[in-house]
Amino acid sequence: MLDYHVHTRYCRHASGEVKEYVIEGMNKGLKEIGISDHYPISHLPQLSYNDYSMDLQEFPSYKREVNQLKKIFNSKIDVKLGAEVDYLKAEESTLRKNLASEDVDYLIGVIHLLDNWIIDDPRNTHKYLEYDLNAFYNKYFDEIQNLIRSGLFDIVGHIDVIKKFNHIPEEGIEQYLMPCLESIADKELCLEVNTSGMDRPVKDTYPGKNFFKIMFDMGIQITLGSDAHQPSEVGRHFEVILKLLKNVGYSGLISFKNREKELTKI
Ligand SMILES: [Zn+2]
Ligand SMILES: [Zn+2]
Repeated sequence: MLDYHVHTRYCRHASGEVKEYVIEGMNKGLKEIGISDHYPISHLPQLSYNDYSMDLQEFPSYKREVNQLKKIFNSKIDVKLGAEVDYLKAEESTLRKNLASEDVDYLIGVIHLLDNWIIDDPRNTHKYLEYDLNAFYNKYFDEIQNLIRSGLFDIVGHIDVIKKFNHIPEEGIEQYLMPCLESIADKELCLEVNTSGMDRPVKDTYPGKNFFKIMFDMGIQITLGSDAHQPSEVGRHFEVILKLLKNVGYSGLISFKNREKELTKI
């Protein structure tokens, strides 16, 4: 089992040292843990660093620390170096430049920022009321399609996080999500099953459990992430979710080494 979506104190809104997450993963019997803290947001002038991510200048020490832990824990648990990266079409060229020289195991592409506000920040839930939900969902999933097309990422992270606070159009999510799943299958990208949503108002994974069978039938390869922001959250809800994934036919999860895919049995 692996957990590929873990934050650390580097991002300024999670607690715990990298090492504490690794030890937690080991204690929970994980074979592998991917550290994927928020990539510096220098390509997003709309945001401030203060409570969101490390500075671009800090990224080398983050990488160094994770790489050291790789060696230290070598025989006990596989530690991988990743990052969760904010995508925005408007800032794609800057991001492409920044990422070109990054030597990491994998990059998770996500969207948090839309219309200049963070859509998954609990302080912003009132903002959803200002929108026509259909139009806002279209906008979000168009941006997800851009993310997929960009070719910058190995993994698409919390693909439908827009549902986090239960602001969901009456007709549901399927019509928005399906075209994105098709693009992911076409591009042979890896899709993250993110379990953090189970502890949020929506009480479901991203993407939702209803889509597991569809994803499998489409041949979509997946990985698993807890989106832990404190060490105790590593591997949260994995047991129950793995069972569901196996039930629909999945027998492996994708892991990455130097941006190359590997298949791990579950
Ligand atoms: Zn995120
Ligand atoms: Zn995250």
